Amino acid sequence: MPSSCGLARVMSMDFRSDTLTQPTPEMREAMMQAPVGDDVFSEDPTVRALEDKGAELLGQEAALFCVSGSMANMLGLWLDVDYGTEVLCDQLAHIVRAEMGAHAALHGIQTKSWTTDNGVATLETIEPLVSLTGGFLVRTSTIEIENTMNFASGAIQPLANYTNIAGYCQDNDLRLHLDGARLANACVATSTTLADYGKLATTVSLCLSKGLGAPVGTLLASTKENIEKARVQRKRLGGGWRQAGILAAAGIYALDHHIARLAQDHEGASLFADHVRAVAPWAVTDTIPTNVVVIQTGSLSADEVISQAATQEVKLTKLGPHIVRAVSHLGVSVDQCREAGKVTAMILERAEQQ
Ligand SMILES: *Cc1c(COP(=O)(O)O)cnc(C)c1O
Repeated sequence: MPSSCGLARVMSMDFRSDTLTQPTPEMREAMMQAPVGDDVFSEDPTVRALEDKGAELLGQEAALFCVSGSMANMLGLWLDVDYGTEVLCDQLAHIVRAEMGAHAALHGIQTKSWTTDNGVATLETIEPLVSLTGGFLVRTSTIEIENTMNFASGAIQPLANYTNIAGYCQDNDLRLHLDGARLANACVATSTTLADYGKLATTVSLCLSKGLGAPVGTLLASTKENIEKARVQRKRLGGGWRQAGILAAAGIYALDHHIARLAQDHEGASLFADHVRAVAPWAVTDTIPTNVVVIQTGSLSADEVISQAATQEVKLTKLGPHIVRAVSHLGVSVDQCREAGKVTAMILERAEQQ
């Protein structure tokens, strides 16, 4: 059984996303005990405590507890990107692929994107796309980096490379937004701190509801001035919440207890991929940096692999017609990762033999 998958134990091995975690009994206990108040009146002590803790961990002056990672990115980009100007990012970035066009639809923000082989852009990739002066070209306001890169097999942005990009932004009066939905995964995998990355960004987000295992919420961190502006805009978007301390308590618990254990998720994802690689070396990358395994399904369609795996209690998700994804998290044990890797490998192997 999973070591701590919470009250509603699920029998299947659910690898569709690390958002599927159940709050552990200890986390639920912390939620139950939390003192709460009306956060729109700035009177929720637990929300305040979470925001203070998050700001410190991320190396920024202040933080705001947001409903979702998408909302934190919306607020961050709203602060960083002037109306009618552009943000540069990877073509696989969550902000362009999975946020329902929010930045264009709500804030008049244009995106321009680069392509990489492995999800890690260097300054040499980015610089040719930058338009500093505007004139008759759209002006670049901001560079956006995602760490880890969700849709690029959980790729880590190496600190030296990221620091170089941050320095370029500073020298050229560009802002830097760091989508750190899985920043904690990157830091655990590379023995760096959240602040090593966070302090160099204009705005930085950190999801509490991904691998960290809280039920809801993302932190956005920046300067005090920026966060006060973001607080107003959050309310404008309908994201002012009341006794949110119940949720913030889960976030505090996650930051205190669920960061170091991400190493286990990384080990599990690696073992999962080892089984697949042994029969289908073309299906996965040579190494799995964090907790995301992107699998090419070859002659089978993604739907076929997903449905065959489901008959053996392994749930995967579809990323493309011939691509599926498995994400490890605290609801699946390392043994279950191994088991699910075997199941997936056998499906691919059988297809190859036909
Ligand atoms: C999950 C995720 C988000 C935010 O998603 P929400 O579902 O809105 O919380 C943002 N960026 C990345 C890279 C993500 O993986």
